[in-house]
Amino acid sequence: MTLDSTDLFGAVSERRIVPVLVPMPAPKAYSYVVPHGMAVEPGSIVQVPLGPRLVVGVVWDGADDGTVDPKKLKQIAKVFDCPPLAGDMRAFLDWVAAYTVTPPGLVARMALRAPTAFDPEPMVEALRLTDQRPERITSARERVIAAASDGFSWTRSGLAHAAGVSSSVVDGLTAQGVFETVFMPPPPVVAPPDPDFAAPRLEGAQKAAAADLLAAVEEGTFSVSLIDGITGSGKTEVYFEAIAATLRAGKQVLILLPEIALTASFLERFQDRFGAKPAEWHSDLAPRTREKVWRQVTTGQVRVVAGARSALFLPFEDLGLIIVDEEHDPAYKQEDRVFYNARDMAVVRGRISGFPVVLVSATPSVESRVNGEVGRYRPIHLPTRFGDAALPHLGVVDMRRHPPERGGFLSPVLLNQVGKAIGRGEQALLFLNRRGYAPLTLCRVCGHRFQCPDCSSWLVEHRFRGQIQCHHCGYSERTPEACPECGTLDHLVACGPGVERIAEEVERHFPEARTIVLSSDLMGVKRLRLELEAIARGEADIVIGTQLVAKGHNFPMMTLVGIVDADLGLANGDPRAAERTFQLLSQVTGRAGRTGLKSLGLLQTYQPQHPVMQAIVSGDSDAFYEREINERERAALPPFGRLASIIISAESRNDAESHARGLRMAAPRVDGISILGPAEAPLALIRGRHRFRLLVHGRRNSDMQAFVKAMIAGGPKERGSISVQLDIDPQSF
Ligand code: ADP
Ligand code: ZN
Repeated sequence: MTLDSTDLFGAVSERRIVPVLVPMPAPKAYSYVVPHGMAVEPGSIVQVPLGPRLVVGVVWDGADDGTVDPKKLKQIAKVFDCPPLAGDMRAFLDWVAAYTVTPPGLVARMALRAPTAFDPEPMVEALRLTDQRPERITSARERVIAAASDGFSWTRSGLAHAAGVSSSVVDGLTAQGVFETVFMPPPPVVAPPDPDFAAPRLEGAQKAAAADLLAAVEEGTFSVSLIDGITGSGKTEVYFEAIAATLRAGKQVLILLPEIALTASFLERFQDRFGAKPAEWHSDLAPRTREKVWRQVTTGQVRVVAGARSALFLPFEDLGLIIVDEEHDPAYKQEDRVFYNARDMAVVRGRISGFPVVLVSATPSVESRVNGEVGRYRPIHLPTRFGDAALPHLGVVDMRRHPPERGGFLSPVLLNQVGKAIGRGEQALLFLNRRGYAPLTLCRVCGHRFQCPDCSSWLVEHRFRGQIQCHHCGYSERTPEACPECGTLDHLVACGPGVERIAEEVERHFPEARTIVLSSDLMGVKRLRLELEAIARGEADIVIGTQLVAKGHNFPMMTLVGIVDADLGLANGDPRAAERTFQLLSQVTGRAGRTGLKSLGLLQTYQPQHPVMQAIVSGDSDAFYEREINERERAALPPFGRLASIIISAESRNDAESHARGLRMAAPRVDGISILGPAEAPLALIRGRHRFRLLVHGRRNSDMQAFVKAMIAGGPKERGSISVQLDIDPQSF
């Protein structure tokens, strides 16, 4: 909207009003006045007053709607000197906000996750060679001039270091005018990757797969390819070809990885292929690095980013390809503030901007698999392991027939194989997806169970730290010696195993072996990276780990993988449980047999006939997928139907329940959409908040967003401690 106003001198000046998205849960952009002489356009990153504060915002599309008296509007305080968010990026953010039913400002905030990066980086002082020659040449001076003659600008100390002389030699030359001082932009966070640095010779199936993929990628238009093939078949090598092609075309590349902080080996592998590392993006980055990466992504200095899900919201200068590695991984789902699945949103980003997206997995999600079968995605299949790496031989251990000794959890069959592997100087991995020592502690005398005071969950014993702990809210206390209920001393029993308890059992059987427990509560990311490297070098005999060990690591000497409790993930009633368990167990057993050595994977189970065990042992995943897909189709579950989950929580159970009922009453009647609940949510109490859940189920083509919006708008007001969380496409249901 443009207002004409007459200034002091009687001249007519224009007063421009623009919408600005601020990083708040506001339903829409707010209007601001553009001060005289300030140039802004849609996408400009600005600073605006909001209440008593100044906040960062983005000039958005559309016109001011005129609802606020223009005299009351505030002025934009400042425009940052950085590239504006491009039109396709703004369209993407709008799309995500609409799809996830989230205030657009909260989504835009994800694109601006670099607190002070919006102003240009300060220039650095550097030296550059002039035409002036020194009065007298010495060998030290000669070396400095030779080092500087590549035309680049050097810092004083950098040049001295490169020439192997003291800085005073450089200073002498500068004083004689041989060097001039210039100001230049700071160096890039990573060197530019070279697409032809070390291209591998692809073999057989890989060649065909790469040709297929390149056909899609070189078109440079939107398409989704789904590369599937067992661990070690060369999927990474094949998608590196797509990256090389995109770099040659002068575009940027984003690689999404589920646990980027742990994948140092991936970065090195990338460097071996492209001569430089990709820039990393994840929550563990130091703030300064984070700012640099953000800025250099927006200016195009950074060509390739390898990042966690949040990297999807980086405002690239010219993005041309997204790879989603391990596309099935639950870590791609964010369940906090903005509830989104980065895999699905990557596809949307490619569609809006018109570039190819590549999904990669040894065990694709049922959704992606169906999309491949119906031709929405281009399936690309890699059938065999590369080179002489043989698949591990896989078998089940029927725990009903091979029970562990009293108080233990490892069957004699598995223990025997562990002994054999380490006897040959190889390594064994025992996998149990449970941190701590024991998931439940109870009193043998009165039956009291230790429960979290704020959550509906048991307290897990962590013996290494002498604590019992809640895995949902972090509550902890010292492991008690007496029962708080009946007061009896020394009659508390630990029930069930965690990794610490397995370690204890292993040490009893193999006291000489070097064992390592890998669990996120025992070490930070840095220490974990070091431990993983040590294991790869062979500095451990037996590794006991949670799902941390499942991801992409390459342990050449690992020839035995034992799954301590293959049934663990199947116990809950979630319809996705079988799929998840299949994916996790495939990934873990894939840690064995990365080289020519013969290897073995053993699954301890009480249900050897279960389809998941059968699929893993037979190596026939097709039958498993077919069964899963049929079941989903029959129940009209995703991707054959749609779901939304609404969690209503409050400090009082009554408030939560009655609010949930109120929402249900407010639901419009729509053909093809039904509501289940309210029922207590799977975790009925977390951090002292009682939780109820409504599950909305719709046909494939139902407008779930419109439905839930109508429901929330027509429902009771959220007062007091009540909060409503909406999750479109929930992970578990
Ligand atoms: P995946 O991603 O399917 O697990 P990778 O791409 O990691 O498989 O390949 C497995 C191993 O085989 C890696 O160590 C990789 O370097 C090697 N490899 C795969 N293809 C080739 C090739 N064409 N030439 C050389 N090494 C290869
Ligand atoms: Zn708790």
